[in-house]
Amino acid sequence: MAKKQPHYEDRAHYPEQSAISTGLAGRCPRCGEGKLFKSLLKPVDQCAICGLDMGFAEEGDGPAVLVILILGFVVAGLALAMEYLLRPSVWVHIILWVPVITALALISLRWMKGVMIAAQYKTKAAEGLLENADQE
Ligand SMILES: [Zn+2]
Repeated sequence: MAKKQPHYEDRAHYPEQSAISTGLAGRCPRCGEGKLFKSLLKPVDQCAICGLDMGFAEEGDGPAVLVILILGFVVAGLALAMEYLLRPSVWVHIILWVPVITALALISLRWMKGVMIAAQYKTKAAEGLLENADQE
């Protein structure tokens, strides 16, 4: 019989939450009410409402890679379009794009992290473990 994971019992007590909506809102993936982050990008250790242990949340570099790819594509396109259409001097690009990229990266990194943690909870994604690793 398959080993039971901690969040199997959750379904009876909490309605299923959308990973995208709870992640974007920065809410707990189980109850949808508790806060997911204790600071801008740091997840809480435990949900204050339902007590879900967020120890499973190990999203690694996933959110950062997605933000770099998506935001880099969008901002590079906008900068090229601005250069082609308006031909501003270099300092205008620096003054405009550095704060825009910084703000968008922080906001979208929080969203992406929330969505990935919620998706990780929903799909029960975890580090691969050998079933009989202790017998070796
Ligand atoms: Zn919760």
